Amino acid sequence: MSTIRLDIVTPERKVFSDDVEMVITRAAEGEIGILPRHAPFVSPLGITAVRIKKDGEEMRAAVSGGFMEVRPDTVTILAEAAEMSDEIDVERALAAKKRAEERLAQAHRDDIDFKRAELALRRALNRLEVANFGDQ
Ligand code: ATP
Repeated sequence: MSTIRLDIVTPERKVFSDDVEMVITRAAEGEIGILPRHAPFVSPLGITAVRIKKDGEEMRAAVSGGFMEVRPDTVTILAEAAEMSDEIDVERALAAKKRAEERLAQAHRDDIDFKRAELALRRALNRLEVANFGDQ
């Protein structure tokens, strides 16, 4: 089966690097599935899951914003933060979710703290979803 190279990197580390069959994520225009020989494009990535198909199995990563560059033989995700599902500390994400919810309850919709708390909440919810704890 033909493959495409996927690299997920952050300023801190290389999170994933391997030849895979398909990459599915949410880019600017919505959900997208990338197969080998995809047309080149660049897109911002929000706080989202990246699903990786390899050898008939699916792996998942949580990405907290960044960019994706697609070429016919490579997909490069440059993320502000990213973790593979088995690297996610669920307790930490639950604590971050709780903190963000408490801040949201106090902040005003138009202030900086509200927006920061909203983003923190979205990062925590995405991590929980990717780690299969989305309903907690
Ligand atoms: P927290 O408030 O728990 O730090 P955060 O959303 O503010 O969460 P980020 O700024 O997105 O954290 O990430 C900082 C670093 O910590 C990154 O390297 C990220 O991969 C890592 N990280 C954050 N939350 C988790 C988690 N629940 N499990 C594993 N790594 C995490």
